[in-house]
Amino acid sequence: MKALANQADIVRVCDRIAALGFKAHIIPGEQRTAIGITGNSGPIEKAEFEDLPGVAEAIPVSKPYKLVSRETKPDNTIVEIRGCRVGGNELALCAGPCSVESREQILASARAVKAAGAQLLRGGAYKPRTSPYSFQGLGEEGLKYLAEARAETGLGIVTEAMDTETFELVEEYADCIQIGARNMQNFALLRRAGRTRKPVLLKRGMSSTLDEFLMAAEYILAEGNYNVILCERGVRTFADHTRNTLDLSVVPAVRTLSHLPIIVDPSHGTGKRDKVKPMALAAVAAGAAGLIVEVHPHPELALSDGYQTLDPAQFASLADDCRAIHELLAQRLEPTLAP
Ligand code: PEP
Ligand code: MN
Repeated sequence: MKALANQADIVRVCDRIAALGFKAHIIPGEQRTAIGITGNSGPIEKAEFEDLPGVAEAIPVSKPYKLVSRETKPDNTIVEIRGCRVGGNELALCAGPCSVESREQILASARAVKAAGAQLLRGGAYKPRTSPYSFQGLGEEGLKYLAEARAETGLGIVTEAMDTETFELVEEYADCIQIGARNMQNFALLRRAGRTRKPVLLKRGMSSTLDEFLMAAEYILAEGNYNVILCERGVRTFADHTRNTLDLSVVPAVRTLSHLPIIVDPSHGTGKRDKVKPMALAAVAAGAAGLIVEVHPHPELALSDGYQTLDPAQFASLADDCRAIHELLAQRLEPTLAP
């Protein structure tokens, strides 16, 4: 739609789409609203829409991921989580422990990451663990501690929903719901995430292609939730000097193909504490809208992922240097490359 299009213009286009038997998706933007169409089995005549007031142009989308595609919405999407605008001008920093372990642990983590300038607090209350005998998370008790940390610090809460059974509970407490790498193609969970009003952080599956990643996001948008943040967290390769291979080239690739913001997880992406900061810097330089980083007051005592977890001082140094790179890019680079 044109920037000047009004509500009546938008409703008129949606009515036309419905009259043709298709589904309209109003995707709001900073400047302009995009209206996606799904449910059509083939091309639709562009003239059906181009004569309506307020319409800028009708664009046939060539990609299988329709609503996620930049063809549908040329402007970047900004996802707002408690005042933190992911994909906006500021670098979004989400940090905290892998798992919520206790009230004291999450409060100390929250204070530390807030002091370092993070806007969002991470921490799993439901943990997908390789072994059934490993710590599985505190469940609702953990969600309550996260809520307490939010009340004290004002940080937005990002926490994982592992299945459709516990989704509603996580939704009640979280400001942004994480879908983990192992669940990237859990289509029932993706559909459920499409029906929440909360933003969703979708992590890339550990062996998923870019198309599969974007199609997973499409499931969420197709249900009507357009607030999706993508997250690169490393993929499986033959390399064994790291836990995963952080595929940073996916950042510019996503930014070309999609309007959704992409952030990077250098913690799971490397699995090694000493590799986290260098890869965080590289991620920001590559155009990531933000970072999600594991931080614990005492990483050596962490119940999960301690070997890739930073202590508060290490995170403060990462945050400072990443912001410096981000500011430099914003000042120096041509607009197409700037974050
Ligand atoms: C996590 O964020 O702690 C996590 C389990 O991540 P992933 O799903 O990327 O492995
Ligand atoms: Mn973890």
